[in-house]
Parts: sequence; structure tokens; C-alpha cells
Amino acid sequence: MSGDSSPSAKLLLECVEHVSTPVYVYQADVIEQQLQRLKDAFAGADLRVMYACKALSTGAILRLMNELGTGLDTVSIQEVELGLRAGFDPSRILYTPSMVSFDELSAVAKIGAQINIDTISVLEQFGSVFGGTIPVCIRINPHIMAGGNERISTGHIDSKFGISIHQMRHVERIVTSHGMLINGLHMHTGSDILDADVFLQGAELLFDVAESFPDLTFVDFGSGFKVPYKPDDISTDIEELGAKLCQRLKLFNEKRASPVALWIEPGKFLVSQAGTFLTRVNVVKQTTSTVFAGVDSGFNHLIRPMLYNSYHHITNISNPTGTPRVYSVVGYICETDTFAWDRKIAEIHQGDVLAFSNAGAYGFTMASNYNGRLRPAEVLIRHGRIVPIRRRETIDDLVRTELDGE
Ligand SMILES: *Cc1c(COP(=O)(O)O)cnc(C)c1O
Repeated sequence: MSGDSSPSAKLLLECVEHVSTPVYVYQADVIEQQLQRLKDAFAGADLRVMYACKALSTGAILRLMNELGTGLDTVSIQEVELGLRAGFDPSRILYTPSMVSFDELSAVAKIGAQINIDTISVLEQFGSVFGGTIPVCIRINPHIMAGGNERISTGHIDSKFGISIHQMRHVERIVTSHGMLINGLHMHTGSDILDADVFLQGAELLFDVAESFPDLTFVDFGSGFKVPYKPDDISTDIEELGAKLCQRLKLFNEKRASPVALWIEPGKFLVSQAGTFLTRVNVVKQTTSTVFAGVDSGFNHLIRPMLYNSYHHITNISNPTGTPRVYSVVGYICETDTFAWDRKIAEIHQGDVLAFSNAGAYGFTMASNYNGRLRPAEVLIRHGRIVPIRRRETIDDLVRTELDGE
């Protein structure tokens, strides 16, 4: 649905008229549709969608998620705070950090968010401080590789995330000796789920481990729900995955005294396609080999193409019916910051507005002030209305935390 979910050029140009460029534009109805798809796909389970807010954590988006009834998956105490400010009850916030200080972990535990622990020594420390007073979820590394080569593999043996599935005996000893309450088991491999069956083989390992934990109220399968970036991209067949996982969970629950809920943590799946990033062409530069279109942005605003080599479809919304020509789209940062090489785009003139699709996830949240540039504005389109949700930064924002050093 990458094509049909794009807002009309007219609406996008209206946003530019309101707040100029560069600007991130998000469509609330696309977020809602994606959430509904998940609810339908996992209809066979007691589902809780924990939105992974590192994908996009602007307050208006978090408030929208809260209104739509999702929980929140967070990775830092600051994200927890953002969630609280957006109105989330702490009980609906899951905290899944990596390598944070014990002080931070304790502070979040006291706030009342669901703690997820992914290191044996931390589990032990938590147990000795809190015993069974605060329930804990355990993040397991099942050593699967659901994306990439599409095989169950021990390839992730070196991953810094999770407690190895081979260390469960040790975990059980710690839990027993400290009288800990383990209410959840979690896995998130981070890789794209391309094949439901491979993912399910990994899930099987989690269900095995779950047999040893009588107090579980949920199992959390993380994310990895891939969305299409290119028109012919493979994406996760969420409907197939949902049906199969729910079926498996049902079998598992039949043997339990009380059934466990199913949690998932989509980030990208909920917000990627809802977002479009708009930039203006500063310069069209013909070199001996290439025609460059240089825009008023760079990896300071959208780093995914440079960091992950990811593809973002680019359209010239100022001249949509222009003759397609081949361009390399680059930024204005004094570094190599190529958004796209040799892309066919409707003829570009200086001043045209280029739209980058699928920019809702890991766009603004990864933006920086490199080169002294200001971070973009953000706009939410809801019920056909254009609502600014973040103003563009000013030079004062840039120096706000500086001290004069005297
Ligand atoms: C980043 C992250 C997610 C979300 O991943 P997406 O690919 O954006 O869906 C979910 N869970 C955890 C623990 C994460 O770190």
C-alpha cells in the first residue's frame, strides 16, 4: 500500500504553504489503518500492541497512540517520561533497555512501568533489591535469524540483546533464589520477518521456555514487521503470521491455569507509511556524469538512506506529470549525503518540492543539528485537517543548552 497511502500532492503542497520545508507530514488515518490490520491479524489472541516509540516519539503522535489504545514500548527513561507526559498510564508502558545503569532501571521500576531485563547479572541485582515485589519480564535471545538468509541460525549468538536461550537454567536459579515474579517473556530479534514459518520456529523456543514460568501473564514477540519501501518489496505477511501465532498460542493456553496475553511491539509498521518528508530543491547541478538535485535537507534530517542504505521513494510533487528524467538526489550537508542515486523522477526545477515516502519511522527521531542546521517542523493530518505538531527550530534552540564558560 506504499502508493495508495501517500497523501495527495495538493494536500502536501498545502502543508508546505503552512510551514515551509523541510517538514515531516504524518497521516493519522494511515496509522489507524495499520493498527487495525494488526488487530484483525491477531484477532485470535488477547492482543496488546505496544507501540515502539523510538520510531517516532513526538507528543502528538504518542497522544494519538494513547487515544487509539496502544501501549508503549520504550528503551530509555526519557522515552518513559515522554509516554507519561502524553498521558500513558505507567502500567501500559514497557521498558526494554539495553546496557542502562541500574539506577535508571530502578527509577523506571519505581515509576511502575513493566520492566524487561535482558542480562543475567542485572536480573540477579534486580532480584536482590526488589525480590518479588516488582514483576519482571525476561528478554530471551532465541538465536534465530528470521530475516536475511531465512533460516533458524545461531548467527545472533554474538548479539548484545537478550539472555541466551541456553542460559535458562541459570535464570531459573536466580528467579527461585530471590523469589522473583516473572510475568512476561520477550523476544525481539530485530531482523525483518519475511517468512512466518521461520518466525514461528523461533516462537516455539519461547513457548518451550514459558513452560517453566507459571506466573506469566503475557508473551511478547517484539517486532520485525517489515513494510514495503519499494513498490515490489517483500513485506511481512502479517495476516498469515497473526493467524498462525494465535493458533499456536491457543494450544499453549489450553495447558495453562490462566491464559497469557500476546504482546507485540511494532514501530515501523505503525508509522512508516504514514509519514512523508518534504524538501525543496535548492540547486539542479549538471556534472559530466550525473544530474544532481540538491535539496534543503541531508542526513541531519533523514539518515536512513545513508545509515542503512534504505530506499525511500521520491516524487516531485511540484511537477508530477513532468517527463521522467534520471537524477541523483543529494543533501546540503558538507559530507556525502546521497538520498538516492540515478532515480527516475519527473523533471525537476529549482524550487520544486520533493516528497520522500515511508519517512514516518526513524526519520525525525534520528534527526540532528549537524552543520548547525535546524531540525524540521512536523505536521499531522487528521480528519482532513493540517495540524502543526512541532515548530521548526530556531537559532536560539541551537544554543539553548550552552554556557558561556566564564
Ligand atoms: C526497535 C524496537 C522495536 C520496533 O522495531 P520496528 O522495526 O520499528 O518495528 C520493537 N521492540 C524493541 C525491543 C525494539 O528495540
